[in-house]
Amino acid sequence: MSSPEKAYSSVFPEASVKTLRQIIEKSRRAGIVTHYDADGDAIGSSLALYHYLKAKELPEIRVFTPNPYPAFLQWLPGHEVVFLYEDDKELTGRYLSSCDLLVFVDFNTLPRLKKMMSVFENHPAFKVLIDHHPEPDIKANLVFSDTRPSSTSELIFYLISKLGDGRLIDKPTAENLFTGIMTDTGCFSFNSSQPATWHAVGQLLQCGIDKNRIFSLVYENYSDSRMRLMGYCLNEKMKIIPEYHAAYISLTLQEQEQFNFIPGDSEGFVNLPFSIAGIQFTAFFIEKNDHIKISLRSKGKIPVNRIAKEHFKGGGHQNAAGGESELPMPAAIEKFISLLPQYENWLQ
Ligand code: 5GP
Ligand code: MN
Repeated sequence: MSSPEKAYSSVFPEASVKTLRQIIEKSRRAGIVTHYDADGDAIGSSLALYHYLKAKELPEIRVFTPNPYPAFLQWLPGHEVVFLYEDDKELTGRYLSSCDLLVFVDFNTLPRLKKMMSVFENHPAFKVLIDHHPEPDIKANLVFSDTRPSSTSELIFYLISKLGDGRLIDKPTAENLFTGIMTDTGCFSFNSSQPATWHAVGQLLQCGIDKNRIFSLVYENYSDSRMRLMGYCLNEKMKIIPEYHAAYISLTLQEQEQFNFIPGDSEGFVNLPFSIAGIQFTAFFIEKNDHIKISLRSKGKIPVNRIAKEHFKGGGHQNAAGGESELPMPAAIEKFISLLPQYENWLQ
């Protein structure tokens, strides 16, 4: 039996770990940066890193995200140090410009930061990338990237252990890491078949976290209008294309207004059609002010990241990806439907 402690050892070459240790010791001002529309793993892994760097006595550390993140994450320990670029570009830009250490967390390409990416052009700081998406194209001094871990949070658990600082994972750090793993695995339903993931979770439970409380804060904390919106989506907006084992849901701005939509309210909607026997390919279209945001999910071999990249200016993982379209809603949906025949042979 292989030891879970050795998991992902190829991601952590001794020389890189040593360099990171030295950099953490000498850095004075750190910026932890995560992606647009941050999710539980983005915020959880960023805040876990924040707590770790604080325990390492790095003098100044802040977390940055381009835009608002869901209310169901706004209890995570340390959430008050998350700054939104959109809120004050001048102030956040000034802090970030003066950082000597930048850590990019849970994304593989700078355009995932949208307009915030301009802050990092020719930035002289030492840059570290920690991520679990395929084909990272961010130029960083150190890259800790692998697609095997369930989440960036799991990768950070092993990185801290590898740095020899496992004992510094205290309860607040563990709560953030657990939330990241729990949300990126859909509550341990996907991306979670590896013993290493469960080993990490076991260790986090030993830090005294209350798993039931975290579950409740994340999944049992929605408004009634969100539940009604879900019912509306299922009853009136879900379309099924049986011949291609596909289903999709769309939501216009007007419908969002009707249900008092706030960021995070459509979390998980893209997965709902998978409860139907035979569905292997799903899409969720949500209208934003100037574009349609598209989420794609698949089972098995259908490479939704390729589809997102080739047709919707996006990317992601093989079975979970996203992108966007400038087309009006009906045309964006039409485009998705027109792609389905190409993937008929990929169905299981
Ligand atoms: P979601 O559908 O939950 O927004 O995102 C699912 C996955 O697709 C995530 O792993 C995310 O990183 C990726 N993703 C979502 N939107 C985009 C996008 O616009 N560009 C890229 N490159 N990846 C995206
Ligand atoms: Mn993630």
